[in-house]
Amino acid sequence: MTTNVTLNNGVTMPALGFGVFQTPPDVTAQAVRTALETGYRLIDTAAAYANERGVGEAIRDSGLPRDEVFIETKVWISDYGYDQTLHAFDKSAGKLGVDQIDLLILHQALPSRFDLTQDAYRALETLLADGRVRAIGVSNFMPDHLDTLLKQTGIVPAVNQVEVHPFFTQPTVQTADAGRGILTQAWSPIGGITSYRGAGTSTFDDPTIAAIGAAHGKTPAQVMIRWHLQEGRSAIPKSVNPRRIAENFDVFDFELTPTELAALDALDTGVRGGPEPDLITLETFGRDIPEA
Ligand code: NDP
Repeated sequence: MTTNVTLNNGVTMPALGFGVFQTPPDVTAQAVRTALETGYRLIDTAAAYANERGVGEAIRDSGLPRDEVFIETKVWISDYGYDQTLHAFDKSAGKLGVDQIDLLILHQALPSRFDLTQDAYRALETLLADGRVRAIGVSNFMPDHLDTLLKQTGIVPAVNQVEVHPFFTQPTVQTADAGRGILTQAWSPIGGITSYRGAGTSTFDDPTIAAIGAAHGKTPAQVMIRWHLQEGRSAIPKSVNPRRIAENFDVFDFELTPTELAALDALDTGVRGGPEPDLITLETFGRDIPEA
């Protein structure tokens, strides 16, 4: 296993990154600064998180050369449409304070308005051709969404960012991604959503995960991150806590056995924590994304 993955267009991306969903705008810069000091070189944000400015500030403060940090952000559904999505790039790049975004993805499919989704993706293709972005992708796309998209596009998404943690592994989506040359990137990779949603047992309290961790002297979060990396996924755990930011990056000195990987796979409940992708509509989830 390496720490980098090569996307389907030849661009290299760190497999392990840092997420900032629900990180308040006023603490985002500090969290990302800590992550960069720890060694993370992939930061995942989104226009809808309202914290792209803090991400950009931390990257500038770090003093790292721009090409050493891989920036991923997402276009929100309210900005879908060809011209709107081109402008969404300007908004995100402006807030991040960069000329080029490494990976720009569509945050959700809009199944009831796939025409808008398609037009948004065409804008991503234009941005890619113009060198404004280095790679393009999608998020929360189910196999039928991928099929519909691929019927009308020449460029296969580099990444599909979907919910994957031991309690919800989406094997069908992972197989569909792999079959099309798309990298699966896990959101809520340590099952944060099983904890902050407050329903039932969280991944952090699961006895199987804990026992595997104990066998390696590692925490449940470290076991889950290692599981993603060994199974070939990218993972973007989020934390605002410096100790946990470091913990989640300290995963390169142990190896899970095939039996342990299978035991983690077997924890899948088939129950998603996030919204049902087919039910995403502008009416229920639309919201204005401010100008830069
Ligand atoms: P994660 O699986 O990353 O879990 C984050 C939660 O777990 C936070 O509450 C965090 O709290 C806590 N936590 C972090 N590290 C540890 C640890 N070592 N031990 C115990 N608890 C820990 O969930 P997210 O939902 O945040 O997903 C990660 C990223 O994925 C997001 O930040 C975002 O970038 C992306 N995402 C994308 C979505 C999409 O639709 N495309 C949807 C959801 C997320 P604390 O901060 O206090 O440490």
